Amino acid sequence: MIAKVIVDVPSRQTDRPFDYIVPYHLQEWVEVGSRVGVPFGGRVLQGFVIQLQEESRLDQHKLKEIAELLDAAPPLLPDLIELASWMSHKYCCSHTQALQAMIPAALKGKEERFISINDDESDEWKSRVSAPLLHWLEQHSPKANWTVMMEQFPDEAAEIRKLIKDNKLQLQSYIKDKLAVKKVQAVYMPMQVQQQPFDALLDQLAKTALKQKEVLQYMYEQPQEQTIPIVNVTKELECATSTVRALVEKELLIQIDLEQQRDPYAGRHFKTTEPLLLTEEQQLVFEQIAITLDKQQPYTFLLQGVTGSGKTEVYLQSIDRCLKDGRQAIVLVPEISLTPQMVERFKGRFGDQVAVMHSRLSGGERYDEWRRIRNGESMVAIGARSAIFAPFQQLGLIIIDEEHESSYKQEESPKYHTRDVAVRRAMMHGATVILGSATPSLESYVAASMSNPKGKLSEDKRAALLSMTKRVNDRALPEVTVIDMKEELLANNRSMFSRRLHEALQERLQKGEQSVLLLNRRGFATFIMCRSCSYTMMCPHCDIALTYHQKSQVVRCHYCGYAEQTPTVCPACTSEHIRFFGTGTQKVEAELAKLFPGIRVIRMDVDTTSGKNAHEQLLKQFESRKADVLLGTQMVAKGLDFPYVTLVGVIAADTSLHLPDFRAAERTFQLLTQVAGRAGRHHLPGEVIIQSYTPEHYAIVTSQQHDYETFVQQELQHRRMLGYPPYCRLAVVTMSHDQLPLLSQVSHQFVEDLRQLADHEGVLVPLSSGFPRSLEVLGPVASPIAKMKDRYRFQCVLKYRGSIDIAALIQGTLHQYKEKSIQKKIQYSIDIDPQVIM
Ligand code: ADP
Ligand code: ZN
Ligand code: ZN
Repeated sequence: MIAKVIVDVPSRQTDRPFDYIVPYHLQEWVEVGSRVGVPFGGRVLQGFVIQLQEESRLDQHKLKEIAELLDAAPPLLPDLIELASWMSHKYCCSHTQALQAMIPAALKGKEERFISINDDESDEWKSRVSAPLLHWLEQHSPKANWTVMMEQFPDEAAEIRKLIKDNKLQLQSYIKDKLAVKKVQAVYMPMQVQQQPFDALLDQLAKTALKQKEVLQYMYEQPQEQTIPIVNVTKELECATSTVRALVEKELLIQIDLEQQRDPYAGRHFKTTEPLLLTEEQQLVFEQIAITLDKQQPYTFLLQGVTGSGKTEVYLQSIDRCLKDGRQAIVLVPEISLTPQMVERFKGRFGDQVAVMHSRLSGGERYDEWRRIRNGESMVAIGARSAIFAPFQQLGLIIIDEEHESSYKQEESPKYHTRDVAVRRAMMHGATVILGSATPSLESYVAASMSNPKGKLSEDKRAALLSMTKRVNDRALPEVTVIDMKEELLANNRSMFSRRLHEALQERLQKGEQSVLLLNRRGFATFIMCRSCSYTMMCPHCDIALTYHQKSQVVRCHYCGYAEQTPTVCPACTSEHIRFFGTGTQKVEAELAKLFPGIRVIRMDVDTTSGKNAHEQLLKQFESRKADVLLGTQMVAKGLDFPYVTLVGVIAADTSLHLPDFRAAERTFQLLTQVAGRAGRHHLPGEVIIQSYTPEHYAIVTSQQHDYETFVQQELQHRRMLGYPPYCRLAVVTMSHDQLPLLSQVSHQFVEDLRQLADHEGVLVPLSSGFPRSLEVLGPVASPIAKMKDRYRFQCVLKYRGSIDIAALIQGTLHQYKEKSIQKKIQYSIDIDPQVIM
């Protein structure tokens, strides 16, 4: 039997399956999706079997055998392999990258080499090595670590190699997993022992062995063949491990290694919740979803529901429906909103069936949660982006909450968008997709409303828009006031708080209610600037300002990691007026302390949330009302639901409005709406105060009125005029090299070749022409970050519409360069449907 294997080598030339013989002893075991170790270029590398067949078209005698099988059950399922192949084409990444994205980091195995003494050979060779090496070898064989040996006996490398060639020593390679399954030693009493009368067993112990007798009795009274970790036995009976071992030696107990689950939520109790009686709006939406769930037909719903309209309850009941059919569900939420509150709602309804996957878990915990999914213990996976690859066999439902979030796009290769991968995976399973948001992305909104404006299902369409316009229990959406900060300046108020926000905060303090303050800054980092000569500290390798880190007093580059001490005088003019800039959260915190002595503030930003459970702990503190104000960046805008929060303040709404990004208005609208939704979710009414220098901007006006519809119509006009998504799609090709003239020349050549190829296919037509298939190639121009890690960067932007295989076009152009040596040294990075253009 022949296995086609994708081997884990990150080069474009090797991005294809290689044929290997499946050795006889593995034929029963190797399946499509198996992870194997295979010989490749003198090493053993990890790979995945993507296909099995009887024969190879290559010469059988030249083929090598699979060296080892790494898991008893294949970690990848056939549908995921198909998905990976689709991803590698669509997002222009290698098969390996796509496959690796689907498995937990614990399974990214690395080669480990061992050396052993070949016992069949005579001993005469032993005189050829030094005494210490021989001693070391005899001590460690057959598991003598190759790397350790080479480090300790570097001078004997040549001789060692000869001995391997002469078959005196054997070199073997294995793949070692990054993390192993956690095991504990445990014991159980075998049935034939337990069935004997207890007195008969006692006879086998010495009369004085009282502790052993105690253990024996304890185990005897357990249910049949009950396995108990040894540590539990010793703790329970206050005895030594050796006492238990003594019984193992007498074969009264049997010792085994017990696989242990690292449960990130161990010891936590989740209150069980029953399904709520749905509101009228929820019921209508749920009925539509139930139809496609029952039919097991692929369908995508965009559920647009205002904050507090009860989307989560709709998710929960949809999952319940899906589980009743024996099918599984995936729930995706942005990393940041994977709060304990969110997890609690799902664990509360579905208990241990829920597996949680996110980056704040340890590698081991993540691996174990993944295994619970793989072996069928878990039916619901809730997690960030990568949980879309949860290895379920019969997927019935995929939910993407806050579907507009840009974190659903992965920024490193494979640069996939979770939404598109979800729709694709759902198609393979006949699964339903629910995209939920109060402020859907324009792409999803247009896709859903165009194919089905009334939200009624139709056979020929595959998407529909569903809306929920009211908060549960007719609770009002909070009152939003916009403060014009220009007027504050005119009134001589130079504080970062308007008089109105100042008053409102004061009032909350008096009443003992809570406030949330949002500092709307994308680059919340602070940079160093001289106030005398306006010199700004830049990274010498990248075209970007260095970031000031207060704790360590260093300035650091976020792209390449370059760091230096913070200077005390300006390196350019030696002025002492050098200081860090930017309205960071720390600055707001300091100002709050000055204005409201004794105020208790919890600051939530990258600095305070880097620890494992830091984010969660801060929220807990706030929930238990140990603070008056929760101050933070985007993090505070999402998913929080605290009854005593009655005021939400936005310090400066405009900061994200003027970014050089065509989605700036959309992002601002989304953020303002999200954060406003945090106020007054319970019995106390809420108030929102937005400070802005451009209060007349439509993104701010419409968010004040909670008017998504009007915002969308205005924003769509802009997009149409400027030719941006959703009126077209984008792809960005970034090229980099350390020599500017060469880069310029090659990138121009690339654009020319690309145009030629597109023209050849008849699609090089301006978008404004109205042709159904059209493509424009812009650039090349210097990238917004023009230099990174000492490499200059040029980009070209492709705008296109209609059924154009953009990946094939780009790859087709690059393909011509494979032979040319100049182009080879250029690095190309391809981003399909980019979220940010850098
Ligand atoms: P969203 O996710 O749309 O912002 P949530 O799902 O958080 O809204 O719901 C807001 C609040 O309303 C929650 O406290 C939730 O428990 C409650 N809720 C949702 N649906 C119902 C219902 N049918 N009956 C009573 N309360 C509900
Ligand atoms: Zn200066
Ligand atoms: Zn740098």
